[in-house]
Amino acid sequence: MWFRQDLRLADNPALVHACSSGNKVVALFILDDVSAAAWTMGSASRWWLHHSLASLAEDLDRRGATLILRRGSTRDVIKSVVAETGATRVFTSRCYEPWARALETQVHDDLKAAGVTFKRFAGSLMFNPDWVRTKTNSAFKVFTPFWRAVSGTEVRTPIAAPDEIHQPAVLPRSESLNAWDLLPTKPDWAGGLRDTWQPGEAQAVDRLDTFLDNAIGNYTDKRNRPDIVGTSRLSPYLHFGEISPATCWHRARDIAKNDQKLSAGLETFLKELAWREFSYYLLFHWPNMPEVSFRPEFENFPWSGTDDQLRAWQSGQTGYPVVDAGMRELWTTGWMHNRVRMVTASFLIKHLLISWREGAAWFWDCLVDADLASNSASWQWVAGSGADAAPYFRIFNPQKQGETFDPAGDYVRRWVPEIAKLPDKYLHAPWNAPPDILAHAGITLGKTYPRPIVDHTQARAAALAAFGTLKSGMAVE
Ligand code: FAD
Repeated sequence: MWFRQDLRLADNPALVHACSSGNKVVALFILDDVSAAAWTMGSASRWWLHHSLASLAEDLDRRGATLILRRGSTRDVIKSVVAETGATRVFTSRCYEPWARALETQVHDDLKAAGVTFKRFAGSLMFNPDWVRTKTNSAFKVFTPFWRAVSGTEVRTPIAAPDEIHQPAVLPRSESLNAWDLLPTKPDWAGGLRDTWQPGEAQAVDRLDTFLDNAIGNYTDKRNRPDIVGTSRLSPYLHFGEISPATCWHRARDIAKNDQKLSAGLETFLKELAWREFSYYLLFHWPNMPEVSFRPEFENFPWSGTDDQLRAWQSGQTGYPVVDAGMRELWTTGWMHNRVRMVTASFLIKHLLISWREGAAWFWDCLVDADLASNSASWQWVAGSGADAAPYFRIFNPQKQGETFDPAGDYVRRWVPEIAKLPDKYLHAPWNAPPDILAHAGITLGKTYPRPIVDHTQARAAALAAFGTLKSGMAVE
């Protein structure tokens, strides 16, 4: 059993099939920093992976199996483990990143040549991207018709974890997880991650239960509020496969379908799970989405932001409180609320005129849920260059976004404590505060907290002018 982005025992069809009929199973995880090339895991994801593997190893151990860890080229490791064990079949869950799909094909060919059967199962997605098609048999580019097409189809019923896993008496060699150096040491910047998260399958189930017990009823109203816990925070667990989307889908439906109060929230939650599917769907059909603007005109966009501006954005020093709060939340916890992801991404692209690729790369390194499909699709969505994208000329006003979605300022006060003493009226726009109020709050703009690095009105005009230089083909509403 070759584990990949399915680091769980429950609802893992590949694992269940591998274990059927009392077969002897070797549980293998390969850390392959070669095959993923540019999309090798970022630092926060590596932290998560370490703990996720430790947790999986314990869960396997309770069922009688050892997790074998090997580092290197996947093809070489699989060939070697097959030779060491005499395995006749290799089981895995499909992955959908372009590099992972190419790798699967190569492994398939290698195993075929060696007379070994390769069995692939769909465990990470609910809807096979190859099967969902428009009436004319092309791929959907827009979410709403995609959602219409999939929402009526039955999602696979989750299957239980195997009770016992039998393994061969002699196991292949395993490396030590600690020797992989996935955790940061010099310096150890992971304190905020440790305080925020506990990776692992049991925690994923707890989190889903907590969300279904407390938040799903208000999800539609509260999911845009970064100042409260209104969403599930399941994204890293889903990314690493510690819980399956089918499990989330069915448990949410079972709890909420007969309860009027919960059903509106249920529909919105299922739709968000479907946005994840849609992102994978887009990546499957347009594999260069992480690198190339979906709308080709955007390849000519006159990006003009500076390195200093990029650094100010990355470190949460733009002078716009909600942007800075989001970027600091990301840096400290490895996660950022979806509304604030949209605001910070829009700010980078449209206020600073810095390419969405720079933003996607920073998120890739910092997010514990960094996911090639969701990250690339979302960045292109915000940029306006994506398949089903927000129009480029819709430019978020960070002050208004803060006032609307963080009305009492709790989110900004938490992450930007140096301006916490400002009255609510000025919290999202400290530059408007009169000098005596700033002094009373202990703030010297430009010293204790930055002045805005760009002026919103001017930046908006500059963004629209830059947008206007793009060749035709852009439908302006
Ligand atoms: P909930 O609101 O509880 O939603 C449940 C699940 O649905 C999520 O865990 C997630 O798997 C999925 N989901 C929700 N919203 C979206 C969405 N807009 N697109 C795709 N799937 C969604 N999500 C990632 O998982 N990895 C990323 O690398 C990532 N990068 C993003 C970058 C930008 C610029 C933006 C705007 C969004 C990005 N998202 C990404 C999508 C979204 O922000 C997160 O999935 C969400 O914030 C996770 O929080 P949650 O688990 O509480 O979500």
